[in-house]
Amino acid sequence: MADIIKLLPDHVANQIAAGEVVQRPASVVKELLENAIDAGAKVIKLIIKDGGKTLVQVVDDGVGMSETDARLSFERHATSKISSAQDLFNLQTKGFRGEALASIAAIAHVDMQTRTPSNEVGTHIKIEGSKIVSQEVVASPKGTSISVKNLFFNIPARRNFLKSDQVELRHITDEFHRVALVHPDIEFHFYNNGSDIFNLPSSKHRQRIAHIFGSKMDGRLVPVQEETEVVKISGFVCKPEFAKKSRGEQFFFANGRFIKSPYLHHAVVAAFEGLIKSDMYPGYFLYLQVDPSSIDINIHPTKTEVKFDDENTLYAILRSTIKHSLGQFNVAPVLDFEHDPNLDTPYSYKEKGATLPKITVDASFNPFQETSERKSAGRSYQKASAKGWEGLYEGLEKGSDIEGFSSVVIESESEEQGTLYSEDGTGHLASTFQLRRKYVVSTVKSGMLVIHQSRAHERILFEKFLGEITVKEGLSQQLLFPMELTFNKQELAVLNEIKESLTNIGFAFENLEQETVKVTGVPLVVPESGIGTVLDRLIADYTEGFSDGSVSQAEVLAKVLSKNLAVRTGEVLDQESQLALLDNLFACKEPSLSPFQKLTYTIISEGDIDKKFS
Ligand code: ADP
Ligand code: MG
Repeated sequence: MADIIKLLPDHVANQIAAGEVVQRPASVVKELLENAIDAGAKVIKLIIKDGGKTLVQVVDDGVGMSETDARLSFERHATSKISSAQDLFNLQTKGFRGEALASIAAIAHVDMQTRTPSNEVGTHIKIEGSKIVSQEVVASPKGTSISVKNLFFNIPARRNFLKSDQVELRHITDEFHRVALVHPDIEFHFYNNGSDIFNLPSSKHRQRIAHIFGSKMDGRLVPVQEETEVVKISGFVCKPEFAKKSRGEQFFFANGRFIKSPYLHHAVVAAFEGLIKSDMYPGYFLYLQVDPSSIDINIHPTKTEVKFDDENTLYAILRSTIKHSLGQFNVAPVLDFEHDPNLDTPYSYKEKGATLPKITVDASFNPFQETSERKSAGRSYQKASAKGWEGLYEGLEKGSDIEGFSSVVIESESEEQGTLYSEDGTGHLASTFQLRRKYVVSTVKSGMLVIHQSRAHERILFEKFLGEITVKEGLSQQLLFPMELTFNKQELAVLNEIKESLTNIGFAFENLEQETVKVTGVPLVVPESGIGTVLDRLIADYTEGFSDGSVSQAEVLAKVLSKNLAVRTGEVLDQESQLALLDNLFACKEPSLSPFQKLTYTIISEGDIDKKFS
């Protein structure tokens, strides 16, 4: 048999290798920003177009490159940062593989201008798919500017794999945060499609965090500081009351590099034990400094996962340090409690003396209670699709069979006892009860219907919101006193992105461009006391939910809204609410599944019940 192994041509090998380094525009951003930092830049500009698909440009005022270096920098394994294997154990720079520029140049159109301080003129190089297209001498400012255009132009499959501009921009913003948070001394400017997203002046860590995540963040930070032989820890954790429902701001940096470490994350969570609920996530910005030889950052190509020599010790130190910081803060919570406009009484109630800030959801609020105004507004999709489920009830004798369950009800929900047999106002005899504050049970012709209250309500709200977002018929409840809420830049960006849908379902905003947004109206189902919480969760969940990029905005929003506004397990539903739940569920287009594809109800057939008695 003839020999069949061939060496791949260089450009093919380069493309393959590039895939390791460059997954998406955000990878380019990371590599270019890191190079600028390694070059000692004091001011760095990041310029993005169309989520980085059209352009990623980084301009720095660092050391620049000589003509020869400029050309060499695009060769694979060309680096100025290490010269022997030994150097790997004492890395002070972000880059060291000499792969990034070669990889990027293999799969994009790259344009570089660079000049060292000692040279009068600079070098301008253009490369397309690893081929040098032109090289000339130019007059250019000191430092380096690299533009990366048309990423993956020669790998259509990779290009098609990219998500929407918004999603790619979000990945880029994440990378930008990671870099900007470790280098507060460097001034950063970030422009997207011509408008500036961030202008971060040179400052200290705390101010940098506040500049990025909004001034309200400043008051939420608890400083963390510890120095031992193994590790030096500095940074901040967020006060427990600002823990989030979804992973929010969680940052670990080791020796100036963003890292991911589920193990150390666990140490932080353990320090918060007892202070936040188990389904909440604490925010943190933690900077670890360890001996460079005790850390292996080499185990993962994108370098966010690390291996520490002595992880167990690190875990213990981290946990106790944070515990200590939180403890100190807890000793004097009132003194330490800085101003948070979110908790302000929204109108001039301030003179009326001290009352406890009330941010809990109104207990008497009944999400199923439809006002007559709302009812008369009518939603035709309910009526149209109501036919299918009616069969469930055919032949059912009203009020039959229910006695058998009364003892269960009395035992688990004694407060419901009085209303069990009451009329529901529409003339039906009530025929539902709540089981374990989790299920609503009723009888249907084939047996016993058990509805999962929270999933069912999710389904109802999901269809309602989806309808409203698309046909714009949501009813708004005008707030007598508009509520002022503060948001950071990312949150504002998301709010603006989903503004139209929110308006369609009944939200009304003013000042949506500024940090302090005025809410002047809310959908009827949103209790006034919960507006801030609902919007915060909405933004967080939307950011998370949308990152898979596969579904429409309306759907993601309807899901998020339904998740956050549905009744939960553990909530008591009165008789009227139980009946409304049942009616509305079976008026849905898809009553059997929650928007998250979970079963909403089941029917235990008479036959099954009979069997138990046989
Ligand atoms: P690495 O950063 O791993 O060394 P890169 O491919 O990212 O590899 O860069 C190759 C080399 O090009 C670097 O080692 C550095 O000498 C030079 N270089 C890249 N970007 C810049 C920049 N912005 N300013 C000065 N030199 C740079
Ligand atoms: Mg590099």
